[in-house]
Amino acid sequence: MIKSVGFLGLGKMGSAMAPLFIQAGYQLTVFNRSIDKTKPLRDKGALVAGNPSEVADNAEIIFTMLGDDSAVEAVYLSENGLLSNDVRGRLFIDMSTIKPRTTIKISKEIEKKSAAFIDAPVSGTVAPAEKGELLIFCGGDENDLQRAKPCLDVLSRRVIYAGKTGSGSFLKLVVNLPLAIYWQAIAESLLLGRSADLSDEMMLDAIADSSAALAVLKMKIPIMLGEDLPVAFDMKSMTKDLSVILKTAEEMGIHIPTTQSSFEVYSDAIKDHKYSDKDAVKIIDYMKEVN
Ligand code: NAP
Repeated sequence: MIKSVGFLGLGKMGSAMAPLFIQAGYQLTVFNRSIDKTKPLRDKGALVAGNPSEVADNAEIIFTMLGDDSAVEAVYLSENGLLSNDVRGRLFIDMSTIKPRTTIKISKEIEKKSAAFIDAPVSGTVAPAEKGELLIFCGGDENDLQRAKPCLDVLSRRVIYAGKTGSGSFLKLVVNLPLAIYWQAIAESLLLGRSADLSDEMMLDAIADSSAALAVLKMKIPIMLGEDLPVAFDMKSMTKDLSVILKTAEEMGIHIPTTQSSFEVYSDAIKDHKYSDKDAVKIIDYMKEVN
């Protein structure tokens, strides 16, 4: 039975997920590029590694939850990276939203080191992450998934096995595509209603009670109405996800014009960094500004 867990990437998601392993009784070793974010976990009893390879030395199963493809490549493949020492027998699980192509590249490097890999990106934001209620999409060998399952259960309400390596990353893109477009669609519908003096509050109440409602909408309405709540998923991450979706579609020879149009709007919104760190649903504020 696995007793030692490593966790790298203590951003908004990682800092909500990693403490669950301490609560579940695992010995936890963490790493984050900016060391200040490791303090709350050190205070809870986690070991703090000075570089990624120390995490791989200490743990049998190692999770990564990083911003983007270049962060994942840096943490796995750089000098003192996760794969720089002998990692035979370890199981690596990357939960970042990245290109399936990068996932496959990393998994091949891991295979060369006689270790195992699962891609396991997640659906759900900071609140479900804190409660261990994420939805996880897994790609890889089913035996490795069985080995990882008790640890995945600590983080999730459900694990969906998508197929071979890279399939979990692919399924995550499939799920994120409509969500990105949804927030932009809501922004456009509010703009339309405002032109006839309908209030945002009333419109959002009506949408949330109609067949145009997504489960996550009610949770996001206070932010859309201007309440100053912690940002769970920022606009630069949304733009990154759309870019990953478009690049992957291009590689597969698929034309997705609505996604392209949505990407252009989010990209414009983060151009001067004004909206980069704001919640992605604030696309409504940007649309208002440019109309
Ligand atoms: P975040 O708050 O921006 O955190 C990003 C993490 O990656 C930080 O730990 C950051 O370290 C690290 N990082 C970035 N570049 C790095 C590099 N070059 N080398 C080493 N570490 C690097 O992002 P997040 O919201 O937690 O999201 C993490 C992943 O989960 C992303 O792929 C995102 O798309 C996905 N996701 C997010 C949500 C959500 O609601 N937030 C939901 C589902 C999936 P520093 O602290 O040093 O910057």
